[in-house]
Amino acid sequence: MYSMVTTAIARGLESVYIQAEADVSDGMPLFEMVGFLSSEVKEARERVRTALHSCGFKIPAKRITVNLSPADVRKSGSGFDLPIAVAVLAALGEVEAEFLRDTLVLGEISLNGKIQSIRGVLPIVAEAKKRGIKKCIIPYANLAEAKIVPEIEIWAIEDLRELVSYLRGRTYIEKTPIINMEEARQKQTEPDFSEINGQDSVKRACEVAVAGMHNFLMIGPPGSGKTMIAKRIPGILPPMTIEEKMEVSEIYSVCGILPQNGVLIRERPFRSPHHTISPNGLSGGGIVPKPGEISLAHNGVLFLDELPEYKKSTLEILRQPMEDKEITLVRQSGTYRYPSNFMLVAAMNPCKCGYYPDRTRCSCREGEAARYLGKISKPLLDRIDICVEAPLICYEELTQKNKRNESSGNIRNRVSAARERQQHRFRQKEISCNSQIPSKDIETYCGLNEKQNRYMKEIYQKMEISARGYYKIIKTARTIADLDDCADIQMHHLNEAICYRIQDQKYWE
Ligand SMILES: [Zn+2]
Repeated sequence: MYSMVTTAIARGLESVYIQAEADVSDGMPLFEMVGFLSSEVKEARERVRTALHSCGFKIPAKRITVNLSPADVRKSGSGFDLPIAVAVLAALGEVEAEFLRDTLVLGEISLNGKIQSIRGVLPIVAEAKKRGIKKCIIPYANLAEAKIVPEIEIWAIEDLRELVSYLRGRTYIEKTPIINMEEARQKQTEPDFSEINGQDSVKRACEVAVAGMHNFLMIGPPGSGKTMIAKRIPGILPPMTIEEKMEVSEIYSVCGILPQNGVLIRERPFRSPHHTISPNGLSGGGIVPKPGEISLAHNGVLFLDELPEYKKSTLEILRQPMEDKEITLVRQSGTYRYPSNFMLVAAMNPCKCGYYPDRTRCSCREGEAARYLGKISKPLLDRIDICVEAPLICYEELTQKNKRNESSGNIRNRVSAARERQQHRFRQKEISCNSQIPSKDIETYCGLNEKQNRYMKEIYQKMEISARGYYKIIKTARTIADLDDCADIQMHHLNEAICYRIQDQKYWE
């Protein structure tokens, strides 16, 4: 007898549909599997056979052939176990083929027949709904994330025996996912901007950067509060749209790190990988590549503290995804695309000791500071929209008691209002923030008047800015104008944006 079961694997955030076909015929007793399989898929044969046996199914002495099609897609991962087992059972006449119509089966089986969770269930189920699949049979451990997708029937299965009883006609009774209350409760009190005394100009630059999703670099001596400021960015990030929440949650599902509380990720990601991270850890990697930090930071912030401490090869990886807002990883099994639309926030000391160019305090030898700064390549620097110096703050600023610092809540309100203006501006476009305006559209969205044009021409020639740097000034000025609720860019918006762009010239000649 012949049977066919539909399954899918996540390739990036897309699903590749696979048919598991089984055929049982007379002949030499044999269990063979074909269809461009990786070694872990070939091992499914043993897992399926043992699991069926331990669930009390006698595999008859017949010739069993399993084929995974299409043949040109390399199959890897352990998610094929359950579809193969179901296909074999159907071919043996144990389950009605009718039950498998418009149904997607996902899951790994352990030797005792228990169904194990797999990665990427959320994007697969979301895609299945779009394709008109009526029912998904998934591991019970993945139920919380599958439930996020509305209006599709989900059967959550704990072991193989249970599934067979359903397929033989017992009614499936809806289950509730295990909700991890620890994770649901986890929302801790965030650090607040009101706790930082002084550094008003750095805080302002930070607000502008977040408002337009501009890449942001803070440079200054140790103890000037760069890390403290960066750590408070999550508190001023604007809320995500429903589409953004879905994108982020799908990436976390593919990584297998989606919180088990049955809801979409609500907060924008803030990722701060340590400087010892490998290039693969940042970009994504593995035989079946998992998303890296740049994708886990999608729609949020990637914070790199002590920027020059990262390996040069690691930092250079950032360049292409910063331009394309996605990363492509090519493997033998196919091409994987993960979105990586993040805002880069970086902090660094200007030299090893931290006090360059203050010659009275800097203890670095001649040329050492230049070497240190040289670890940040020009092309990477060119992709930073806002660079700001964080000086050491004086005693009066540190101990000021009377002045009330602004809270993160206040700043967040302004940022959110500026973001809403941008969303309205780009409602017909693929982009959502000023930092993403393509250079060809600069004129449309950031038009300057004649006087401003003359002024910018002068600046461009005098400061020897790159073309990319020039556009970054205009885009940053657009964001400053948005924070000001101004329809047109004003001269003082341009000047503020120019300041953010030329501070780095002091360090990198
Ligand atoms: Zn120094």
